[in-house]
Amino acid sequence: MKVAENQKNTNQRGQAIVLGGSLGGLMVARALSNHYERVTIIEKDQVERQPCSRKGQPQTRHLHGLLPGGLNVMLHYFPDLKDALAANGALLANFAQDMIWYTHGGYRKRFEMDLTAAAMSRPLLEHLIRERVLALPNVELMDNTSVKNLISTPDQQQITGVNIQLTELGKVMDLHADLVVDVTGRGSRTPKWLEELGFEAPSVSEVKVNVAYATRMYKRDPLDPRSTNWMLYTPMAPEEMRFGGMFPVEGDRWMLTVGGWHGDHVGCDEAAFNEFVRQLPMPEFYDIISNSEPLSEIIPYKYSHSLRRHYEKLKKFPLGFLVMGDAVCSFNPVYGQGMTSASMQAIELDKLLGKNIPEQHLAHRFFKEAAKVVDIPWQLAVGEDFRYSATTGPKPAGIGVINKYVTRVHRATLKDPVVCDAFLRVMSLLKAPTSLFHPKIFWRVMWAG
Ligand SMILES: Cc1cc2nc3c(=O)[nH]c(=O)nc-3n(C[C@H](O)[C@H](O)[C@H](O)COP(=O)(O)OP(=O)(O)OC[C@H]3O[C@@H](n4cnc5c(N)ncnc54)[C@H](O)[C@@H]3O)c2cc1C
Repeated sequence: MKVAENQKNTNQRGQAIVLGGSLGGLMVARALSNHYERVTIIEKDQVERQPCSRKGQPQTRHLHGLLPGGLNVMLHYFPDLKDALAANGALLANFAQDMIWYTHGGYRKRFEMDLTAAAMSRPLLEHLIRERVLALPNVELMDNTSVKNLISTPDQQQITGVNIQLTELGKVMDLHADLVVDVTGRGSRTPKWLEELGFEAPSVSEVKVNVAYATRMYKRDPLDPRSTNWMLYTPMAPEEMRFGGMFPVEGDRWMLTVGGWHGDHVGCDEAAFNEFVRQLPMPEFYDIISNSEPLSEIIPYKYSHSLRRHYEKLKKFPLGFLVMGDAVCSFNPVYGQGMTSASMQAIELDKLLGKNIPEQHLAHRFFKEAAKVVDIPWQLAVGEDFRYSATTGPKPAGIGVINKYVTRVHRATLKDPVVCDAFLRVMSLLKAPTSLFHPKIFWRVMWAG
């Protein structure tokens, strides 16, 4: 098992504590291991040393697409991850050639692209990353341990540790640290903790999307020529409100997730689920499930609104404390951005710590960098969501005009591999959305779209 060597910092710091041991927490722990003598991850669930979902991360039972932007960060930290994924039955394939993607009344162009994507279950990905993070000599995991509160200096200006409870023993104790990072996900208690310490809580942007998912596993026939393809259907909004994704995952299984926006929800009894799949404009899904053995129950998930906490706008923040991952921004999951955003935030923190920023400026600088990471996926996701009139919340300026152009981009991706290439790089979070307005792309979009 290979982990990129810790780039030891000459100003090695003492103890860091990461709250939450899901994917975001693991990536942050990896980044912090370059700069702290000891990194302790606190996770309230029991964590098995094998791929499995836990109570604290119910979303991991649903389809998780890893964008090439996120895979790149993971490969930076774990150079053998691709090999480990392949050895464990994940599918590594060409992002444009191997994806069958139906949208706007046709299939996006397929062509060889220099981007690899990985299809696997989320528990497998997380397990492989966790094994690599815990193999580091200076990282440890305390599972079955719940964070109850922050500990601060008497003047409440600096966080000096956390108060934890060991679930099985019921024992409560304090752990001290030079840096505490909250990666406890969307339900993070940091806003409340800040107010209790006399700081302001961050302002919040909420975009209501009322999305529901349902997921089921099926046996995959490796002889089916489609068995090494990802399949995606995304709607031509606002006329269509449903989506579907079917990925080949380890163990010769298909993972199918379908769902819809704004109440166009999938039923979770077998007949309603199958009928929903049958009605999707992309026939491959129904064709495959009609001929494949189901391997799981149908698992539902409801997601009411995307949520962004604007820590970057706070004037004051306690020393020795940061917040990351879904605790900062939880995106409408349909766009598959959360793991990539969390990984990109982790590498930004790594870079900042490498610059030895004075401690009193760290939070401010980090939240500015994290906001830059979050801005683009947030704009992409929210922009698409506002195609539906039922979507409510802070609407980005000029989104109507931008969406008209993006509709043409979508249509052009069905015909023109150059436009499709440019689009896939933007949605992978590798290129800025402005690249779609470059004259080389713009005129092709106008012509084809
Ligand atoms: C339905 C759904 C589908 C998704 N699909 C995709 C996808 O396709 N692609 C993608 O990139 N992203 C996807 N995401 C987002 C992705 O799951 C998250 O972005 C990712 O898990 C990183 O989140 P996180 O680690 O910040 O928080 P979480 O994954 O929410 O983890 C928080 C962790 O903190 C722990 N915790 C909470 N409270 C405490 C406490 N008091 N003490 C100790 N531990 C605590 C929890 O047990 C949990 O392990 C999806 C999300 C949902 C909801």
